[in-house]
Amino acid sequence: MANTINNNPPISFEFFPTKTAEGSQKLELNALSLAKYQPEFFSVTYGAGGSTRDRTLETVLSTQKQTRIATAPHLSCVGDSREQIKELLDFYRSKGINRIVALRGDLPSGMGLDRGELRYGNELVEFIRTETGDHFHIEVAAYPEVHPQAPNMEKDLENFRRKVDAGANSAITQYFFNPDSYFYFLERTHSLGIDIPVIPGIMPITNYTRLARFSDACGAEIPRWVRKQLEAYGDDITSIKKFGEEVITQLCEKLLKGGASGLHFYTLNQAAPCQGICDNLGISAS
Ligand code: FAD
Repeated sequence: MANTINNNPPISFEFFPTKTAEGSQKLELNALSLAKYQPEFFSVTYGAGGSTRDRTLETVLSTQKQTRIATAPHLSCVGDSREQIKELLDFYRSKGINRIVALRGDLPSGMGLDRGELRYGNELVEFIRTETGDHFHIEVAAYPEVHPQAPNMEKDLENFRRKVDAGANSAITQYFFNPDSYFYFLERTHSLGIDIPVIPGIMPITNYTRLARFSDACGAEIPRWVRKQLEAYGDDITSIKKFGEEVITQLCEKLLKGGASGLHFYTLNQAAPCQGICDNLGISAS
């Protein structure tokens, strides 16, 4: 069933900054392909501790220029000083960027959590508001399956609330495959009086080994039936992609039907898997 553009749910696509000229060219083509779906915004990740500071900045500006789609930098605070963060905020502001994804970030192992002047997401949001007022629309992260370092869901919800109280406008979730975890998270946040939009983060499935590695690291649970099926496909990439597209399309359908107010795709800098899912959902491309 085809939608008109006006009926499309708000969507956004996330990229990471590339290291080579070839990678940048591929990213440009993929961003142009995805721009046809009229996303609300693109976003570009940031390496904690400033490891991609310049590349994130360049990718944000070039993607926005080439696609004419608003592009939001991610900004993580661990390992960066207040001064470094302020410099970046001022730069983005001077370039007319007005949306930012504000995160704590994950330092490479071996670096203590007390590195840097701002320790948690809520402190970064507070800092951005203090320094730049209402200039930025601030997105923060949310964890329907609970952040891996949180002692329990209650504490994690309390900490999520701190980011909202500090001035976050909306949230994007860590990816998950069980829609019930998202709906339960919404219920819990609503009961706490939190009413900012919480947009599900969607991870297309294209490669089992990589997905298993990411999921272990970020605490996303791969349901047994999905894992077993992906394992059974072995090196048969075509079947993995076909099955992955079906599973994620169904997940998105359930989320949208159940009231999710948009979808944020973790593209891993590939357009095709997201295009397949958007087409299945009837999201029209111009
Ligand atoms: P926080 O909100 O600070 O939470 C981190 C942990 O600390 C949680 O367990 C929380 O319960 C606890 N906590 C929070 N506040 C307090 C407090 N005041 N006192 C005590 N405990 C507290 N990482 C990157 O490095 N670069 C990126 O570009 C990036 N993009 C992302 C985009 C999205 C949509 C998501 C969901 C994640 C992204 N990440 C990125 C990963 C993210 O940085 C990690 O998940 C990180 O571990 C937590 O970041 P946060 O902003 O959610 O942290």
